[in-house]
Amino acid sequence: MSEKIPALIDKFGREINYARISITDRCDFRCVYCMSEDMKFEPRNELLSLEEIAQIGTSLSELGVRKLRITGGEPLGRKNVMWLFEHLGGLENIRDLTITTNGSQLPKMARALAESGVTRVNISLDSLQPERFKRITRTGDLDKVLDGIHAAADAGFKRVKLNTVAMKGRNDDELLDIVDFARNTGIDVVFIEEMPLGNTSNHDRQETYCSSDEVRSIIEQKYELIATTENTGGPSRYFRMSDSDSRIGFISPHSHNFCESCNRVRITAKGLMLLCLGQEHSVDLREVLREQGHASDAMIEQLKEVITKGIDLKPLGHDFDLSEQPIIMRHMNVTGG
Ligand code: SAM
Ligand code: SF4
Repeated sequence: MSEKIPALIDKFGREINYARISITDRCDFRCVYCMSEDMKFEPRNELLSLEEIAQIGTSLSELGVRKLRITGGEPLGRKNVMWLFEHLGGLENIRDLTITTNGSQLPKMARALAESGVTRVNISLDSLQPERFKRITRTGDLDKVLDGIHAAADAGFKRVKLNTVAMKGRNDDELLDIVDFARNTGIDVVFIEEMPLGNTSNHDRQETYCSSDEVRSIIEQKYELIATTENTGGPSRYFRMSDSDSRIGFISPHSHNFCESCNRVRITAKGLMLLCLGQEHSVDLREVLREQGHASDAMIEQLKEVITKGIDLKPLGHDFDLSEQPIIMRHMNVTGG
């Protein structure tokens, strides 16, 4: 790796070396905490093209970003998406190219993703009970997702991880089953506190809120959790169990605020660079990419300048409050989870 790569430093001294890019707002699922039942999606020409996403990824990597996470919506539902992974997988400054997926396309895509340079995969799984899984995702087929998880576990990624949103009265009685499933499959699991992003019709977030401390005490009924200082460059705090290689992580935006060590920015499917998940500070990268109608050295220089100046807008942190109506009306599929 070249020593000349600059670092992106915000005005609070945090180094920004991680970008999450949402490559589509569309999805084959309608998870209750993420979308409303009757979601309206953006017109396709409003979304970044794969070439525009590739340009943003390249410029970020030349500015000091070392880790890219591709997310959505459902990223593996996007047409010709393997072209993008092959491009990003070839960027020399990117140490970690990761993806967050609902797993429905993994049975047929896991191996090709591993071969393209994707290093780690996060797969959402909120229940191991078919009926309940269907209720939470509204459209998902559990068997297909389980096949996808097994395909990922066998594909040769550095790490495969489950993402579970813990919800009281919805799945808190099977969190230990999910831990056992992760242990038996040789993968990690991260439990997430739900965030108030976008209106989700008939799902009451205050009623289902389950803190990471509550999840931890459920798991500790069966397993001793040993705190580690391991870090995968994201907001999770990790624990280990003495008799397994699987790790248990917690993402706790409410109970253990992680803003002071935030190292990331997000790019929405429409090309806004968001400086914080829970705030509106942003700069428009699509505008720069489309201004001249074609790629040029001047456009790439301008893109890098807008990104660099945009980092100065990064706020100190978020301010989530589940007792209020969501102040951030963006749904998670637009922002990229
Ligand atoms: N479709 C892919 C998936 O489900 O993994 C990627 C996009 S999804 C928006 C990314 C992650 O965000 C998922 O793990 C999901 O559970 C999480 N998520 C969505 N809405 C959330 C919310 N309101 N609070 C916390 N996590 C949320
Ligand atoms: Fe789709 Fe992922 Fe949102 Fe579920 S969490 S609706 S799978 S984007």
